[in-house]
Amino acid sequence: MSIGKTLQDQIVLVTGASSGIGKGVAVAMAQAGAKVIINYLSDQKGADQAVQSIKENLGSAIAIQADVSSEDQVREMMQAACKEFGTIDILVNNAGIQQDSGFLDMSLAGWQKVIDVNLTGSFLCAREAAREFCRRGVVRDRSRAAAKMLFISSVHDTIPWAGHANYAASKGGLLMLMKSLAQELAPHKVRVNSISPGAVKTNINRDTWESPEAEEKILNLIPYNRVAEPDDIAPVAVWLASDEADYITGATIYVDGGMLLYPGFGTGGEVCR
Ligand code: NAD
Repeated sequence: MSIGKTLQDQIVLVTGASSGIGKGVAVAMAQAGAKVIINYLSDQKGADQAVQSIKENLGSAIAIQADVSSEDQVREMMQAACKEFGTIDILVNNAGIQQDSGFLDMSLAGWQKVIDVNLTGSFLCAREAAREFCRRGVVRDRSRAAAKMLFISSVHDTIPWAGHANYAASKGGLLMLMKSLAQELAPHKVRVNSISPGAVKTNINRDTWESPEAEEKILNLIPYNRVAEPDDIAPVAVWLASDEADYITGATIYVDGGMLLYPGFGTGGEVCR
């Protein structure tokens, strides 16, 4: 992956960046010249590895531990980030979890946990970051926008998902959170967008791609016929945060190999006649 220095000296905070898509996005943003804050929940080793590899090869990075669903911890994380780098220019709301269950057996705790991390966690980080973005405004030699915010959502902000109602509801909620923020923050020159991945090989869905049988099954849902890697998502995040995308706000880019194209109709949908 070759990435130009389109984010030179911008400061980016990526939540849940000790693994998977978040780690990929953090490293790609560092390749684009950004200084990176790796937020992690409990995987300090993964966070330290990401920081180390950025520092050795690319530039500045630090790790900050915080649970994105805790208002106090998010506030402290933003304060620590601003203390280290002076401000932040880009927030990537990536942290997310699944706790799957058939609906009849879904516990309130299992519902609440997913909403707390995926939706409320994104709200808390977005609000703290937006306060800093609006306080600071545009820094002319850094970016045309005052700041950029990205949500790593999911195709399940659009595709219903039986057995995963809590997850799909959290991602559907992110869609309107993202659009409402895009509308409200545009006059402050803050751009807000989402990337909605399809199936990406990470820890969150290991059981769906680890065995050849499972991968074969998921490929039935992907017209492009391969499961994505974090490197399929990362350059899109860099581009969306860069000035090349300066007129884009309130948009969702589906990076899904065609999952949203009703793959069941790929053979003409004869069964539906
Ligand atoms: P992952 O499990 O590797 O990453 C999720 C990260 O979130 C982990 O590092 C985890 O520690 C962190 N996290 C969880 N709870 C947290 C909390 N309370 N506070 C801070 N961090 C927390 O899996 P991933 O696939 O890289 O997931 C990243 C995002 O991508 C998630 O929002 C997920 O919903 C989304 N997504 C993933 C896929 C996929 O197929 N992998 C598809 C669509 C969307």
